[in-house]
Amino acid sequence: MAHLELTAEEPPCAEDGVWLTCIECSETFAPFDDVRYTCDDCDGLLEVRYADLPTWDDFEGDGVWRYDAALPTRSGVSLPEGSTPLHDVDRLEDEIGVDRLRVKHEGMNPTGSFKDRGMTLGVRVAQRVGVDRLACASTGNTSAALAAYGARGGMETLVLLPAGKVAAGKVAQASLHGARILEVDGNFDTCLDIVQDLAMRGEAYLLNSLNPFRLEGQKTIGLEIMEQFHEEEGTYPDRIVLPVGNAGNTSALYKCFRELVKSGAIEESDVPKLTGIQAAGAAPMVEAIEHGWEETERWEDVETRATAIRIGNPVNAPKALPGIRATGGTAAAVSDEEITRAQRDLAGEGVGVEPASAASIAGLRKLRNEGVVDSDEEVVCLTTGHLLKDPEAAAEAGEDPEPVPGHTEGVLEHLEAN
Ligand SMILES: *Cc1c(COP(=O)(O)O)cnc(C)c1O
Ligand SMILES: [Zn+2]
Repeated sequence: MAHLELTAEEPPCAEDGVWLTCIECSETFAPFDDVRYTCDDCDGLLEVRYADLPTWDDFEGDGVWRYDAALPTRSGVSLPEGSTPLHDVDRLEDEIGVDRLRVKHEGMNPTGSFKDRGMTLGVRVAQRVGVDRLACASTGNTSAALAAYGARGGMETLVLLPAGKVAAGKVAQASLHGARILEVDGNFDTCLDIVQDLAMRGEAYLLNSLNPFRLEGQKTIGLEIMEQFHEEEGTYPDRIVLPVGNAGNTSALYKCFRELVKSGAIEESDVPKLTGIQAAGAAPMVEAIEHGWEETERWEDVETRATAIRIGNPVNAPKALPGIRATGGTAAAVSDEEITRAQRDLAGEGVGVEPASAASIAGLRKLRNEGVVDSDEEVVCLTTGHLLKDPEAAAEAGEDPEPVPGHTEGVLEHLEAN
């Protein structure tokens, strides 16, 4: 894992052994003094760095804050989040044909997606840097999480959503938790351009995954998977398959593994292969991996029923592409039909997920069929959001209700006749 080498020498700007480093030019910055999302010198992405990295013995308690020794603050604005289940899915494991398949269901977080893990930390840092208005662009789940965590922290929240392209459950959450919702005439990438401008002008604190602190919270997905899997299976997973939108999670998992190797908690050979899945209608990361590009090319027209990953310009690509490559992983695109099938299959094992989440299973099935994934692999698929996030998509993928008369005889007749 040669890329993005972690360095441990603490620069003078560090606070409590924590600082920010530009991944492009290695310039360092104080973590909590000013509001800053990218490098002052070259506009590169920033990464949180630590003087000391913890090992397994340093973790205690539950949820995201079990891992406070690996995070830049010791507590957060919490609901609380994390400690999500790592399900067995025996029928899918047999059918797809891998040695072991577990599903890490991030839909079981407080607002129903993994975004909560980043927000508990991001909102705390916002308080620490002294801003009181929080903002994000969102395909839905970030806005739901920001609204809830902002409310919890007693702060004002502003969310920009692509008009008509956000699932009903997510808008309802943002609305009831009290966010000011701006419906933008444009796609997610346009919303992000605008909210970045607003943040640069000092109008609000940006809580998209461009914010390096959010990714630190999301890093705990990797820590939980490694701990849970090891405890229950006695090994570490060979591969982690996840849906990719802005590639924040992919970047966060890669950082998690680099830190675990650096601290000696795991061997380099224990690092799972990061395998990113996109919808065929929004697959700039897959394109970049296939062509060996350093960066993604922006897709202007994106479409998929997996609205959470309907993104044409993944901001974290410069962090995530090296992660996929360095871990020996890959990226693949799946059709909306394949996503729907996987959503049904997961539901058939009792695991209810939104369409974007099912992309991980759809992608694993495809890569297994193509022989990219071996039959002897132990795999964890990440499911990122809950079924109820997108009730319309769930109802469309499921069976229609059957009308029956309002008496028992009529119901019995119907059951026998159909
Ligand atoms: C945000 C989100 C994603 C995409 O995650 P990235 O970190 O942006 O790649 C995938 N699925 C769901 C349900 C999400 O809410
Ligand atoms: Zn720089």
